Amino acid sequence: MSSDLDIQNSRYARQMRFAPLGVEGQRKLLASQALVVGCGALGAVIANTLARAGVGKLRIVDRDFLELNNLQRQVLYDEEDVAAGLPKAIAAKNRLAKINSEIEIEAIVADVDPTNIERLLEGVSCLLDGTDNFETRFLLNDAAVKLGIPWIYGGCLGAEGQTLTILPGQTPCLRCLMPEPPPPGTTPTCDSAGILATIIGVVASIEANEALKILSGHPEAISRTWTVLDLWDNTLRQIKLEGARAADCPCCGRREFPWLAGERGSHTAILCGRNAVQLSFPGREAVSLDQLADKLAAVGQVTRNKYLVRAAIGSYNLTVFPDGRAVIGGTEDIAEAKSVYAKFVGN
Ligand SMILES: [Zn+2]
Repeated sequence: MSSDLDIQNSRYARQMRFAPLGVEGQRKLLASQALVVGCGALGAVIANTLARAGVGKLRIVDRDFLELNNLQRQVLYDEEDVAAGLPKAIAAKNRLAKINSEIEIEAIVADVDPTNIERLLEGVSCLLDGTDNFETRFLLNDAAVKLGIPWIYGGCLGAEGQTLTILPGQTPCLRCLMPEPPPPGTTPTCDSAGILATIIGVVASIEANEALKILSGHPEAISRTWTVLDLWDNTLRQIKLEGARAADCPCCGRREFPWLAGERGSHTAILCGRNAVQLSFPGREAVSLDQLADKLAAVGQVTRNKYLVRAAIGSYNLTVFPDGRAVIGGTEDIAEAKSVYAKFVGN
């Protein structure tokens, strides 16, 4: 191990020469574990940076699979991954293992929900947000505050992005600043507003940088502002957070965790930018992908790999994972998606 941290020859040599990090900080990074939730645009940049930096254990969880329009901004993936229809978490792990074979990378294909988030956080000392929706972020906030795990929020739309680092019990949590998520349909999505890869790179790099501070033992260096920047309008706002921690915050004040308890949030989601609906069924027993592939072959064009079955049926694209979760492409109507699922997969 000591040769790994040789200041001349180590793969981390340049980073260790950065005085605030040093050899000691590197040692801590190598012994640390982080969770990246979502491995789309933000998550890919975050995971890439943390893997190269030598975060010893990286757990990556993502519910989605790759499509061609991801390649504009999701930097870990290529055309072969898209052609193979790989889940993003798997494609990310494959790529990251070639970049740094000395760290441990765990890829999990799943929707993060109240039934699995606490398990996903086991052993983790920093959680990074690579998601694209507030429902998941409020769940992450509940879990991180409950367990006292630092987490870093990030979001992007168009050319604008924002990020915030939360040290539970010390700095304002997401609900101190935003008591309720915006109602569905009231905020623009990457469908309506588009997204530039450049803002993703900036926000994800800030998120990864904050994680490096926390994981290397320098929480005192984290940003104490809510940062909002727009690369098209050339604006940067840093909202100071002194005094913003709400004493009566339901989450970090009263310690109520309704998203974690499953009292808030749902198991269906309209997927941002995808013209698709996700249906999930927590607790359901495993689906036989072989049987399902045979069944769907009778009605549509089926592709199948180790991780999922896809079928093009008329104007719909149906993707089913072993846990029964499905993504119905070709509609944003939840009722329509449920009926397509019932018709072709069964209940
Ligand atoms: Zn709070």
